[in-house]
Amino acid sequence: MTATMPITRTVLPDHRDSMWIGGAWTRPSVDERFTVVDPTTEEVIGSVPAGSAMDAGRAVHAAAAAFPGWSAQPLQARLRPLRKLLELLERDADGFADLITQEVGMPRQLSRGVQVEFALGVLRSYLELVPNHPFEQRIGGSLVIREPIGVVGCITPWNVPLLLVVQKLVPALAAGCTVVLKPSEVTPLNTFRLADLLTECDLPPGVVNLVSGSGPVVGSAIASHPDVAMVSLTGSARAGRHVSALAADSVKRVHLELGGKNANIVLDDAPLDRAVGAGVRQACFNSGQACLAWSRILVQRSRYAEAVEIAAATADSLRVGDPFDAGVDLGPVVSAVARGRIRDYILLGEQEGARLVTGGAAPPPGLDRGFFVRPTVFAGVHNDMRIAREEIFGPVVVLIPYQDEADAVRIANDSEYGLHGAVWSASEERALAVARRIRTGRVDVNGAPFNLLAPFGGYKQSGNGRELGSWGLESFCEVKSIQLGESDVQVTVGGTT
Ligand code: NAD
Repeated sequence: MTATMPITRTVLPDHRDSMWIGGAWTRPSVDERFTVVDPTTEEVIGSVPAGSAMDAGRAVHAAAAAFPGWSAQPLQARLRPLRKLLELLERDADGFADLITQEVGMPRQLSRGVQVEFALGVLRSYLELVPNHPFEQRIGGSLVIREPIGVVGCITPWNVPLLLVVQKLVPALAAGCTVVLKPSEVTPLNTFRLADLLTECDLPPGVVNLVSGSGPVVGSAIASHPDVAMVSLTGSARAGRHVSALAADSVKRVHLELGGKNANIVLDDAPLDRAVGAGVRQACFNSGQACLAWSRILVQRSRYAEAVEIAAATADSLRVGDPFDAGVDLGPVVSAVARGRIRDYILLGEQEGARLVTGGAAPPPGLDRGFFVRPTVFAGVHNDMRIAREEIFGPVVVLIPYQDEADAVRIANDSEYGLHGAVWSASEERALAVARRIRTGRVDVNGAPFNLLAPFGGYKQSGNGRELGSWGLESFCEVKSIQLGESDVQVTVGGTT
């Protein structure tokens, strides 16, 4: 079903000619620019500089110069600007939601309720937990202290742009690190607006630096810079591999939050309507452009036909249209390139022998303008098909039948990825036992809500490290142990003195 397209949009375009480096809006060293396109209207809504390696170098230099002062600040002094940022972000929450809807295409109520609200939630959670964090502890005769790792390069994607910046920036600053931030070139405007707010937060020059540009140019320059102590990247596995290789030369810490091909296991005693219905809706959240999308639904063979019907009916009930329309479930996908890639996967699924149950590669009826894709369901899928193995990053769900519980666990774990997953059962105990056997960093039982304090991150090629809560803070810390006091024992190595 499609919705009509009345367009109510806010004050744009927003063209930026400078980047925030060393506490000043700074002209880039080159003239190239990235334009930002509203995926609903296909109109240009802004542009930002396509920075160079030299610009990245200037930003790293500024961050390195700021590090000794910032890291030596008492904790409360580091939290003060973050409290101010929370106040400003709360004030501008609706404006950020409008802008994100225009950049990403996500329905406006979800931009406000998830993209912005979760960013606020993460900020609040760190303001609460950091003062109580055990930065120092005694272990026998040792004092163990957490210190900031140094200059951190934060490289972020376009799909949840504000949240994923805040998720890195806030714990990094709270830990005492200084930051060079490179947002996605596809949706950079909201990060520039965040930088506008940061300029009002009394941060010393160089503590936060924003450099816009492409991954291969600016991202690579950050990842390979010897004065960057750590790179934290959220993005594709492809970018993760590249950044890891570049970082290896200077043996810097690499934190990677990458893609997923997440399995939603519906056990044979689960309420099928709820499990499959919620599964399809979750997989189509943000038009399927979510690392945690449950893009594979695993259903026991005896209930498979019924599950396929529920999945198709759910997909058909989702309204595709203008994301500013209150009744819309799915806006467009982010770009023409993304739409092309998703359509290619849909055609590939048919070629691979999967059965297209609903949706398809053709545009939704009545939506000739905008990068729209129909919610698509495939049945008759084997886990060795590419549509079951590769991250499509669009509203495409595959249903895979399994024989028994062991088979379901085997199929779920038969993936290069290991980010997220779900288990549904009438018995929480049974679902929990299955969840323990899933090789992913997060598993939701019976549709439990997202917890901003619990760690988030992946096994296998979904990444290294964890964000959120105290795990996200520890990511930006080095650990030092200082041995205190005199001892009769001079050296103890491997049990011999
Ligand atoms: P992407 O990998 O194309 O880009 C992500 C960021 O990395 C961008 O800023 C980009 O400019 C930069 N980049 C790209 N290539 C680079 C390179 N060679 N060197 C240095 N930097 C480089 O990903 P995307 O299309 O923006 O985002 C979608 C991907 O992100 C999906 O795979 C999705 O699953 C993943 N993602 C993961 C999480 C998570 O928490 N695990 C969250 C959101 C998105």
